[in-house]
Amino acid sequence: MRDYAKMLKEHSLKATFQRMTILSALDTMGHANIEEIYETVLKTHPTISLATVYKNILTMVQEGVVVEVPISGEKSKYELKREEHLHLICKKCGSVSDMPMRESIKEETEKIARSSSFKPFRRQINIYGICKNCRDI
Ligand SMILES: [Zn+2]
Ligand SMILES: [Zn+2]
Repeated sequence: MRDYAKMLKEHSLKATFQRMTILSALDTMGHANIEEIYETVLKTHPTISLATVYKNILTMVQEGVVVEVPISGEKSKYELKREEHLHLICKKCGSVSDMPMRESIKEETEKIARSSSFKPFRRQINIYGICKNCRDI
């Protein structure tokens, strides 16, 4: 278990009980949408509202503690901010797998941005398709 209070303070956010519970839920789930996070948080925090969960996630995304993983045609998922990686997203079962971001990919995307005099500040690579489990059915 990570030090959620420290993570929040490092981003100048108050370490409220709600935020710590949300971070802990996300940590166990890996990637989850707002409703999934809400359902998990409810188990330890039965009085919390969906609106509160939503508002806190948006704040933590803004401050860079949580990262939004947009999924085309579906609800965004969220994850804890950590080392850069890329995603394999299954359009059938909705699973999101983390894959290592190789140096060569980073260099290539930086070259592309530089060649357009574009100053990048954020990067996320999501590959959509069908996962091994779903292909085997
Ligand atoms: Zn799948
Ligand atoms: Zn991820």
